[in-house]
Parts: sequence; structure tokens; C-alpha cells
Amino acid sequence: MKIVYQNVIWLVLFAAYNYISLAQDPPIEFDIAAFFHEENSQAKVAFETAISKMSIMQKTFSFNARSHVIPEGDTFASNNLLCNLMASGDGLGGVICPGGPKVAAIMESTCRNLEIPAVNINWRPSASFMNESVAINFYPYPKLLFQGLGVIVKNLQWRSIVIFYENTENLIALQGVLKIQDYDGAKYNSIILKELGPGPDYRSALKQIQNKTEYRIIVDCKTEHIIDILSQAKELKLLEPHFSYFLTSLDAHTVDLSVLDTTANITTVRIINPESEHFQYVLSRWKQYADGHGITDVDLDQYSIKTETALMHDAIDMFLRAVRDLNVRKKIEPATLDCQNSIFKWERGFDIVAFMMERGYESETSSSITGPIRFDSMGRRRNFTIYVVEGNRDDLIAKWNPDDPKVVQFLKSEQDRNKALEKKWKEGTVIVASILGPPYLRKRKPAEDGQVLEGDDRYEGFSMDLIRALAHELGIKFRFEVLESGARGVYDKKTKSWNGLVREILDRRADLAICDLTITPERRDVVDFSTPFMRLGISILYKKTEAKDADMYAFLNPFSLDLWVYSATLVLGITVAFYFVTRLSPDDWENPHPCDEEPEELENIWDLKNCLWLTLGSIMNQGCDLIPKGISSRMAAAMWWFFAIIVTNSYTANLAAFLTNERSQGSINSAEDLAKQTKIKYGTMDGGSTQIFFRDSNYSLYQRMWTSMEQSKPSVFEKTNDDGVARVQNTKNRLFAFLMESATLEYQIQTKCDLKQVGNWLDSKSYGIAMPLDFPHRSRINEALLKLQENGKINELKDIWWKQKRDSPLCPKVSDEGPSNKLALQNVGGVFLVLGVGIALAYVVAIFEFLWNVRNVSVEEHISFKEALKVELSFALNIWVTKKRVKPKISESSSSSQSSGGESRGLAHSILHGAGSFLRLDVLSRAGTPGSRHTSRPVD
Ligand code: GLU
Repeated sequence: MKIVYQNVIWLVLFAAYNYISLAQDPPIEFDIAAFFHEENSQAKVAFETAISKMSIMQKTFSFNARSHVIPEGDTFASNNLLCNLMASGDGLGGVICPGGPKVAAIMESTCRNLEIPAVNINWRPSASFMNESVAINFYPYPKLLFQGLGVIVKNLQWRSIVIFYENTENLIALQGVLKIQDYDGAKYNSIILKELGPGPDYRSALKQIQNKTEYRIIVDCKTEHIIDILSQAKELKLLEPHFSYFLTSLDAHTVDLSVLDTTANITTVRIINPESEHFQYVLSRWKQYADGHGITDVDLDQYSIKTETALMHDAIDMFLRAVRDLNVRKKIEPATLDCQNSIFKWERGFDIVAFMMERGYESETSSSITGPIRFDSMGRRRNFTIYVVEGNRDDLIAKWNPDDPKVVQFLKSEQDRNKALEKKWKEGTVIVASILGPPYLRKRKPAEDGQVLEGDDRYEGFSMDLIRALAHELGIKFRFEVLESGARGVYDKKTKSWNGLVREILDRRADLAICDLTITPERRDVVDFSTPFMRLGISILYKKTEAKDADMYAFLNPFSLDLWVYSATLVLGITVAFYFVTRLSPDDWENPHPCDEEPEELENIWDLKNCLWLTLGSIMNQGCDLIPKGISSRMAAAMWWFFAIIVTNSYTANLAAFLTNERSQGSINSAEDLAKQTKIKYGTMDGGSTQIFFRDSNYSLYQRMWTSMEQSKPSVFEKTNDDGVARVQNTKNRLFAFLMESATLEYQIQTKCDLKQVGNWLDSKSYGIAMPLDFPHRSRINEALLKLQENGKINELKDIWWKQKRDSPLCPKVSDEGPSNKLALQNVGGVFLVLGVGIALAYVVAIFEFLWNVRNVSVEEHISFKEALKVELSFALNIWVTKKRVKPKISESSSSSQSSGGESRGLAHSILHGAGSFLRLDVLSRAGTPGSRHTSRPVD
């Protein structure tokens, strides 16, 4: 509607012009030359349309379009043509330089000589700009253009980038993009430059990024090569969905990328906005012009309009307006000029260009289809807008302009973009790569009802439950892909590639990877990780001391067998020696009756029994209540005591040392302990982060450990953690320790009670969920994980898979100190045994003594052995009777029996009738037989 309206205005203006012009001076002929490489091109249509429009709009000038087709690269012929045009007719008022940079440079130089305005609409890589020049370029100033591209790339948040460029000339311009590292907050891991070569076969260049981790690619090439390059990339599987491309060509919108049939993310840029209304209006005029002049072979479709065409429109429009408006102040009339004689120049050329530069195109923006136009003093365009398009040609997402160089204005709010992304995510199925290894993931046992398990139902474990909980939080569907190789991800320096789960992520066969996957700096460079869901460190798994190892005769260990034998012999020897010393020593012969001052006999208490008692009592540190009196015997005793004190104290000290040693014997308490010995071998899982930790550590202790592990034969590296655990269990004499991550170690020692964790963590790290670099849903996953952490779900899952869902019973809890810090019965069992045996022997001897005594009583009392035994036994067992009365000798009692035979009978009777009556009768018998110290009869 608007277009029709504008056309009506146009016709009215045209009529008014015709009317007025009849009454005015004839218009000034003003020729503008433009050079093209094709007969009919969009730019030519734009050029001629703009001139015819301006010719109609005013009456002062008769603007004439002088379009010329010139061969590409023929500088000589082109320049000759230009000179002829300048010299013929009314001369030229301006020149639109051609696209070819060489020809453009020559023509620009000719124009400079003669001060004819030289208008450029193409990028001139090696153009030399000058102050106060007649040359002006409507193409965005390359430095600013590439700065803009750099800022846009920064906003894409790519971290590793490969830039493919077509030729070195472009590379210079690309420096703007290379400088993206300097822009605020941009963090790039790597920017790799690769030359595409001359084409048309770009495969050898593209192949260089096959098997690499780079899938963010910037392609700087001619528009006409885009399809060739991308279709060859597709052949090489470099156009898979996870690849992202950024095309620097400002005409990329003219290429129909749908022919590539790819879901790879392709971002393009342009400085025109084909959707804008003004563009549509100008386009309709071009179409009208083409129709009116029978031009049918020019594609004037909305999306096929090249930047050059749009710039041609703006350049001519602005130039003609400048001529028209400047003419009001200074009369402008073209003149014929001679290329060979540059003394004569056109006096208005410089004025027109200066006027354009000064005025810009701000006020009349509606006429420009590449936005407002401003120049610097060297004729370089400093104002333009870069539109960023993603995927479809009409999917405009952002724009940038040099006025606000650090900011990319997103046309869709971040929220909208996120919502769209999330929606797409929820519609699909997230592929989760994992490996088998309990408790993270294991095969489910077949169902009892024989039902066949399929898909994810085949597996269970911590990882499965965690992803299930995450999926529930995020509202996504997922599917597990279990990797047979069991590799988590190691970088092979030879093949320069990753394996395992990391490879799956890099190749985008999986969106997420989960297991006991440690977050390491190397992995972090090529894949992203979620926030950690478990913290851990490397620990030592070792076998506990076996109970049977404890020595119950450890108390014998302090002395060698020889020493025991010598000591025992010495006790006996000293007993005998002491016996003789005391016999010789006069002072040990004592008066048995101290009240009798002149005794007839002397007594020596040091019989062999007492001597033995003294020697034993001394060596046992118990002393003895019998003390020698003679000098020699005291000397002997003192020497024995001296010997005893040394021997017993040596024994005590040695025993303590032996028992301590017994407890810590062969024991490893830290990595240092492992490193400083060679007997106990130690190893890690092959291809895991633990192995890499030792391999790459700069710490001397771990370096030593790594050297030792590397040189060990047979290898100490186990394929899986389970193999390592089994090796610790099965290696005899506890000669193998396994370095593994504490989380898995903890799981193992829950049920394998013969194993223990030794020492502290060697480092501190975490497990995380891996995902592709710049994964758009990373923050969503992190949020969900934090939520699960906060509400205790992750801890709950850990408890379930570490403790509850176990096939074997959990080991009984052992205090942290462990049994080894205390003496167990096993360690001192022998002492109990010695005590038991000693007491038993004492009983044997006691029984023997008792029977012997019974025998004596029976003989003395003339009663049968059995009767005497009965009496003695009932007395011994009557624990209430605590006193024993002396019994007169049998001979005495028998003599008294003669005077009182009834009493004698009474005694016999009392003997026969128990201890109770025995007391009474005995009193009677004593009355008749005054006490004798030799009697031995017991009485209450
Ligand atoms: N978690 C380790 C990794 O991600 C594997 C186990 C280990 O090396 O101890 O590589």
C-alpha cells in the first residue's frame, strides 16, 4: 500500500518537474561513469535506477548513467576507457570504481590526478587512504567491520575456534576477529588458523580438523565458494549437528544453505536488512526499472540482493544529492579533462567529496538501505549495522554497529531464546553415555518372572538414579548408551585424540556422560562439566593385618630361647649356690629359741626350698620375706637382685617394643611409607585420572611413586578398579596396595572387611557430568543438580548405593582407632595360659600334699585311709571353719587312752562323726593331754 502511495507521489513530482522545467534553463549535463564486469547485473540496475530517479526529481542537472562493461583484471584497457570518457562529451562528474581491486586502484589514481570524485562500493584490501582526497568508499571500513565480527563471535561464547581463510590478504583483515581475545571477558582456549587453499577442492584443508576437538569454525571466503566448502565439509562429516559455523561474507544471505540439508548451526552476517520496508520499496523500483528496460536475467529476489547492489544504490543516491545541494552554493559543471595532462583538474571534484564526508547521510536515512552513513576524513565509512542471522535467512537474532562497539544488541530477548532452546531440548531425547562399574552403573539381575529387560531397564546404579532425578527436575527424556570399552577418557599424545566417554561427547554421540568421571583440567579444556556432585581424593587401599597373625606367645619374644633356657638354669643354679653360701655363712645359723640365751642347737632357715623361693621371688620382682643375714649370703643375694633387676627391666622394655612392633609390623600408613619402601608394590587403574595424577605430578614424592610404578614388573596398573581391589585381596603377605579414589574405595571396604583405607587423601577433586563445550543447557543442569544437593537427594542416593543395595552384608563398624591400637587377647593369650597351667599345677601339688597328709593321719590315728580322707575332706570343704587345732600325737592320745579309754574311744568317735562334734571331744582330749607343739590336728 505504501509503495503504491509513494509511486503516486513520484508521478505528481514528475509532472510538476515537467511543468517547471519548461520555464527554466536547460539542465546541466552531468555524466557519471560506472564499470561492471557483467552485461546485466544487480549493481547496474541499481546504478541506473538511482540516476534516472534523481534526474526526474530535479531540473538543474541531467544526470546520465554511463555504464560500461570491462574485462576483469584488464587495468590498461579499463583505464583507457576511463580517460576517453573524461575527455569526450561534457566530461565526467563522478566515477563509480569497479569491484576488481587492481582496476579500481588504477582508476582511483586517475581520478585523484584529475580530481574527479571516485566512489567505491567494494572492499579494497590494500587501498591507501588519504586525507583530503577525492576517493570515498561506501563499503564498511574493514577494521571496524572485523571488530564488529570479533565482538559478535565473542557473544557466541565459543572457546576453541578454527578460522579457515581463503587467502592471506583476507587474513590481514581477519586480524579484527583474531583480536577477539582482547575484548572484555572473552576467554579462548585456542584459535587455530587454517588456509583453505585455492579450491575448488578444499578437502585437504578441512581434513586437518577431522578427529579434533574443534567444532566451532569461522569461514572467511568468497560468497560463491561457500556452498563448495560446506558441502565438502559435509562429506568429511564436519557438518554434523554439533558443528557451528560462522560465515564472514556479507553476501552469505544470497546463498541458499538449505541445499546442504544440515542441522549444523550456521551463523551469517549482512549489512542490509532485506525485511525492512524501505528496502522493499527500493527493490520494487529496481524491479520496475528492470521490467521497463527489458532486463530479465537479473535476479532481483529479496534475498539475492548483494551488498554491492545496496551500496551502489546508497552511493549514487548520496552522491547525486550532494551534487544537487552543493550546486546551490557553488556552481557545478563537469569539464572535459585529459589524463595525460593532470595540470588541469576539475575544480569541483574535491568539493563534492568533502561535502559528502561532512554531511553524511544522517538526516535522510530513509533513502539509504544500508543505514546511516558517515565517513572519516579519509573517506572511510564509519557507520553501518551488522545484522546477525542464525539458520534461516530471516532468523535475525542480533545487530551491531560501531557507535556502541562492545555491545551486540539481541533482537530476541535472552529469555525468549532460552525458552525456544529449552522447548527443543524437552522435545528430544538426551543421550547419556556411561560405563559399567558398581555402584555407579551395573547390570540389573534378571527379573524373577523371567521378564526380559530392555533399554535402560537393563541397568541400575547411582548414575542411573541421579540422571533420573535430574531428568525429573528438568522435564527431559533420556536414554543411556553404555560404552563397552569402559574408558572414561584419556588423551593419547600420539594419535592426538581422546577416547572413552570424552570422545563420545566430542563426537556428539552423547549429550551427557556420567560415571565416576573426574573433573580434570585436560578434560575441562575439551568438554564442559556440570557442578560437582561428589567430592573425593586419591587414597590407598590396603589389606588389614590378619587376626591369625597375632602371636599369643608374644610375651616370650623379648628373649631368645637361649636366654630363656639360661635364665631358668641360672635360677636353679643360683638356688643351689645360695644354699651352700648360707650353709657356710655363720650368721645364717640362728638361735631357734631367742628367749633361750644359751641354745644348744642353731638352726638354718635356708633349705633348698627357701633358697628357691628367694631366687624366684627376686627375679619376679616380688621380693621375699626371708632375708639372709650373713655377709656372704647377702652379697650373693644382692648380686642376684642386681641380675634380676637388669633382666626383668630388659624384658619389660623389650616386651613393649615387641608388642608395638607386632601391631605396626609391615604396616603402611601413608603415601610416604609406600614411597620409601620397595617390598610392597602399589599401582593404579590404567587410563584413569589417578594414573594421570601421578604421571603429571610435579611433587617429588609422587614423581618417585610414579617412577616406581612405571618400572614395576609385572605391571601394577589394573584395567579396572575391581581388578585392583582383587589384587590387594589376593596378594600374599599384604604385598600390594592400590591407589584409588576415595568414593569407590569407600564402596569397596563397606563389604570387603579384610580391606582398609590407609592415610589421608593425596589430592582433592570431584566427579561431574560431562557435556559438550558451550552446552546451552549447562546452567539448567547445574541448577537442577544444586537443587538435588540441597534437598539431600544425592546423599540419599549415595547411601542407597553404597550401603543399602549391597549383595554382601556390611562389615561391622570398627572404631577409627582400630583394634591395632590396643592389645588384643591374642597378643597376651600365652600369659593367661601360663597362669592357668601354673594354677592347675598348684592344684595337682595341693591334692598330692593333701592325700599325703590324709595318709599320715590314717597311719597316726590308726584309722583307714578312707575314713581319714572323709574327715579331712569334710573339714577342707567346710569353708566356715577357719581355724585348725593342733592334735596331740597319736602316741600321746593312745597312752592317755589307757587312763581314760572312754575318751579315746570318744576321739575316734568324734573323728568318725565329723568336725562339729570333733571340736567338743577334742577339748576333752586336750584336757587329759596338755598341748604338744608337734600335734597337727586341726580344730575350729
Ligand atoms: N575417576 C577416574 C577417571 O575419571 C577413574 C578412576 C581412577 O583413576 O582412579 O578417570
